[in-house]
Amino acid sequence: MPSNSYHCLALYSSGLDSLLACKLMQSQGLRVLGLHFTSPFFGSKEKIPHWEQIHNLDLLPVDIGQEYVDLLTRGPAWGFGKYLNPCIDCKILMLKKAAAMLPMFEARFLISGEVLGQRPMSQRRDAMNIIRREAGVKETLLRPLSGRKLSIPPAVSESNLVDLDRLPAIQGRGRKEQLRLAREFQIQEVPTPAGGCLLADPESSRRFSPLLVHMAPPRVEDFELAKVGRQYWSGDNWLVIGRNQEDNTRLMELVQKDDIVFKLADLPGPLALGRQPARKWSRELIIEAARFMSTFSTKAQKTKNPARIKVGVDEQVEIISVDPAQSAESSWQEPRMEVIR
Ligand code: SF4
Repeated sequence: MPSNSYHCLALYSSGLDSLLACKLMQSQGLRVLGLHFTSPFFGSKEKIPHWEQIHNLDLLPVDIGQEYVDLLTRGPAWGFGKYLNPCIDCKILMLKKAAAMLPMFEARFLISGEVLGQRPMSQRRDAMNIIRREAGVKETLLRPLSGRKLSIPPAVSESNLVDLDRLPAIQGRGRKEQLRLAREFQIQEVPTPAGGCLLADPESSRRFSPLLVHMAPPRVEDFELAKVGRQYWSGDNWLVIGRNQEDNTRLMELVQKDDIVFKLADLPGPLALGRQPARKWSRELIIEAARFMSTFSTKAQKTKNPARIKVGVDEQVEIISVDPAQSAESSWQEPRMEVIR
């Protein structure tokens, strides 16, 4: 559990750069609290005890899931990156949150692992200036890895806590200097450069993007559901089919009011969950979804008899008989990368 007083707060993604930023400050005797932001797209709260132990850090999880989903729904002011990653707005959001927490921990300034020129969208000099300005942290944000390449914020110089000459002057996409620092700080598990973000991943973005188009508005729970199983859409209607027992268990954990749960009544097979974003599903669509999910059961495919599917909405359950072998045209389509306006 973090103590109440730190010299600085860090944006800690768990990637190497954010870890090195913390280490650079610790090596100068500063007390650092790493803020680990979590959302459906990044962050692993459960790994915090491990990171605290192996890296000798104090870390605090900060859930920004709903604010992040609101940001995506509104549309990021500075646009998306290659996929659904709104990197500039994301950094602004995190830094604003972090800045608001400074007094809580009597901290003097913020640090981040950003490196000048490392990433095309958010770490160009102009983008880094925009982030600093829009987040209102011009006075308080130090980026230690590029410390001797960037202007030093007043809160840092006035604090007299940091020997600025000892800060690195890293610039560009190379990793050599970061790996040298990792050795110098004897980091046992060298993490990947970034902390891993599903919004910068093409497959995850393809899963997420229909939510921004078909749901008004999507919720945190919807993005959690988009991470599970096989995904299908029919217009605004959404069907998720488990691929294995782990998916089926997760689907049951994610069931919400008004969701439709499809389950084979007599045979082993996948579980499916239909979400009703805007309007109730038609009877035909429910039957089509039941038949479609039954085609993923090998046992149901082999039997000559119709498959019986339990279809439940809240407390109400009915049995529908379908023919999994029927070669009917299906309206259920895999998600494609939607154009987000
Ligand atoms: S990659 Fe993801 S977590 Fe990192 S800045 Fe971009 S949107 Fe934010």
